[in-house]
Amino acid sequence: MFIIGVPAEGGDEPRIGLSPETAKKLIKAGATIKIRSGAGARSHFADADYQAAGASIVKSDAEAVTDADIVLTVRRPSAALAKAIKKSALIVGMLDPYSDAEGLSGLAKTGPSLFAMELMPRISRAQSMDVLSSQSNLAGYKAVVDAAALFSRALPMMMTAAGTIPAARVFVMGVGVAGLQAIATARRLGAIVTATDVRPAVKEQVASLGAKFIAVEDEEFKQAETSGGYAKEMSEAYKQKQAALIAEHVKNQDIVITTALIQGRPAPKLISKEMIESMRPGSIIVDLAVERGGNAELAKPGQVVEHNGVTIMGKLNLPGLVPDNASSLYARNLFAFVELLVGKESKAVEIPWDDDIIKGTLIARDGAIVHTMLGSAAKPAPVPAKGSKS
Ligand code: NAD
Repeated sequence: MFIIGVPAEGGDEPRIGLSPETAKKLIKAGATIKIRSGAGARSHFADADYQAAGASIVKSDAEAVTDADIVLTVRRPSAALAKAIKKSALIVGMLDPYSDAEGLSGLAKTGPSLFAMELMPRISRAQSMDVLSSQSNLAGYKAVVDAAALFSRALPMMMTAAGTIPAARVFVMGVGVAGLQAIATARRLGAIVTATDVRPAVKEQVASLGAKFIAVEDEEFKQAETSGGYAKEMSEAYKQKQAALIAEHVKNQDIVITTALIQGRPAPKLISKEMIESMRPGSIIVDLAVERGGNAELAKPGQVVEHNGVTIMGKLNLPGLVPDNASSLYARNLFAFVELLVGKESKAVEIPWDDDIIKGTLIARDGAIVHTMLGSAAKPAPVPAKGSKS
């Protein structure tokens, strides 16, 4: 038997890491669950639904976590709440490992083992636990829907008796999980879609979604993917060639969705102020990388900026704008991860410390930061913007 505690998230985070569905499954796996009253309300999970699944509703966050062996969160918990958590407990959530190193080290010092779900290794066994995939997919969808809602024209071509409306042109920069969904959504809405990336593997995926791939396809491009499936930081020479190509392309686009990220580094700058000024008034840029410094020069975290008639949306936490889906999927990711932490026979917490999934996500243990990517040996460049997760 083990106890799972679920505190409520802060005011700017509508998602939650437990759904009534996963509560039921966790209880079957041996858990006793304490969840703070109202914690799922913004994802439309009622206390009564958690209770029906077998969870106990408690009045405060402290009460939810005090006896917990595992604490499930969306964001990094506050230092105040961390003090109420047992030293032997595990905290599992999107702990934002590359931001606010001091805050993270403070949290580590309170004692519990910290698991950052963003660092989940990209191996097939871990796909069901991949929070970046489950959340980025929704962000890609929402970016296009938001842009379409703000756009002063229609997206599909329409042939009417009064004349033909041309299809809008949508350009997706960065074709990871979010980018692929952005392409698919824009295609469903009838736009003419082009996309770019530095990883060659993407080319076929773009074509299979009915979009056109454009990129600087030189020798460096052929080597741009890390063994972990992420993009490398490109050379200055490549960046210049890429900028020239994008400058030419972007001026004819109506909507640009940027999603380009490099693991543990600030987002690459892909759209300059000059490029924005070359776009037609009424055009829209949605910068999904804004939390990591942004791909577009004028993008501001949490703001909608207008420059020469071009709107640059830097909304934070797009998955949080579709919280019912985002929470359901995130809760399933956490359930799959917790299954790994619990002995099938003993139904108690038994952590396989040597498992690659554990080694990949464990960032702190016994009061200290332990992850190689966060230690002094391999410190990533500081990430500039601090905001909510996307
Ligand atoms: P990401 O969020 O790290 O980056 C988004 C995209 O930006 C990537 O496609 C990246 O190549 C691109 N990018 C980076 N720098 C760029 C630049 N200068 N110009 C243009 N584009 C640039 O990526 P992601 O969504 O996490 O996906 C990375 C890969 O991992 C994908 O191939 C994805 O399918 C794969 N993946 C594997 C698993 C698994 O096997 N468990 C799970 C999820 C994703």
